[in-house]
Amino acid sequence: MSDMGRRYRHVRSSLMDRMPKPGDLISAFSVQPGRCFRMIYSDMLQATHCYEPPVWKGSWKDVKGRTWYVEACQKQEPKVSTR
Ligand SMILES: [Zn+2]
Repeated sequence: MSDMGRRYRHVRSSLMDRMPKPGDLISAFSVQPGRCFRMIYSDMLQATHCYEPPVWKGSWKDVKGRTWYVEACQKQEPKVSTR
């Protein structure tokens, strides 16, 4: 047990800084009616839709400048003008 603990700590020290955590935002997104468009890491660190119910609807521009009509939860509401 103490051996395992040492090995684990060693891995953590080199990897944990950039390891994703459950709930972290993923740069990818997915537009789906009735769902927040943001993708997050699930408890298994797999990409999944944000669990929060969408409360915001509007157009949103991705990094390539393409405009999407999306729904987002309160937490991840895009900081853009909707006018
Ligand atoms: Zn969300």
